[in-house]
Amino acid sequence: AKQSGRNRWQFFSTELEAQVQERHQLEQYMHHALEHQMFEVFYQAKVDARTNTVIGLEALLRLKDRKGEFISPAVFIPFAEENGLIVPIGQMVMQQVFEHVHHWQQSGIELVVSINISVVQFKQPTFLESVHAALLQHNVKPEGIEFEITEGVLAKNSEESRAVLAELKALGLQISIDDFGTGYSSLSYLKRFPIDVLKIDQSFVRDMLTDASDAAIVEAIINLGRSLGLKLIAEGVETVDQAQALLAKGCHLMQGYHYCRPMPFKAICDYIQQASR
Ligand code: C2E
Ligand code: CA
Ligand code: CA
Ligand code: CA
Repeated sequence: AKQSGRNRWQFFSTELEAQVQERHQLEQYMHHALEHQMFEVFYQAKVDARTNTVIGLEALLRLKDRKGEFISPAVFIPFAEENGLIVPIGQMVMQQVFEHVHHWQQSGIELVVSINISVVQFKQPTFLESVHAALLQHNVKPEGIEFEITEGVLAKNSEESRAVLAELKALGLQISIDDFGTGYSSLSYLKRFPIDVLKIDQSFVRDMLTDASDAAIVEAIINLGRSLGLKLIAEGVETVDQAQALLAKGCHLMQGYHYCRPMPFKAICDYIQQASR
């Protein structure tokens, strides 16, 4: 027993060491990637399902590992939030997206492009100033930019958050609540914060045709959004049946593989052109 206990301890400690090593390597790699401009913003279309027109885009960050395979943002974003790298990464995303938005606005393409803003980034005292500076630097009309925040932004230090959101609104930006319904349950913030859009989380959309609770939640969110005068968009729409069910319930803005995969800047430019023909 003594022997196996010792082996077990050794097993765990090697396991742990390997994890620490791996995280350290990922952190080094992310530094390297930032320095060498290896992060790339992809875009996914948001569609009005009534007319099949593209009404907006969401910017989604991509990073390839040394073998050329994508590392999931679901892995590297939370890690970057822990080690603070999300601040320079978020800054870099804003620069890339504003440059692209400037290009679209110059070409007369009127789309609202949304950027995911991490809680950590949002809480930086310099955040507002950096947004303002980037808008001026890239000569972008703020009406064409939307920030997607999660409920966590509203829950912590909510008075400060309210002030920052009010300033962003005053600059002319749109604010959207991402993953709506998965975070904190207090709904009172919908009244207190200047919000434009609710994004129905993909976990509810995924099973809404087979799971009565998910269908009920989707319906409740749609009714809530409509009575508060908010825009609604469903994410993770993968099938025509899901799209039709959402339309029937009164949600007509959609995003998901059924319409468009996230793709690089050049490819999304082609997609927008084709869709507008
Ligand atoms: P999110 O903001 O909820 O983004 C939606 C995710 O769903 C994206 O995953 C998108 O590629 C994926 N998706 C879109 N349509 C479908 C569909 O029909 N089916 C399914 N199963 N998935 C779909 P992605 O690109 O892997 O990003 C994961 C998360 O990483 C994002 O979730 C967001 O929280 C975060 N993220 C990505 N880019 C950024 C960024 O630039 N900044 C920050 N702070 N977070 C980011
Ligand atoms: Ca999002
Ligand atoms: Ca989401
Ligand atoms: Ca999500």
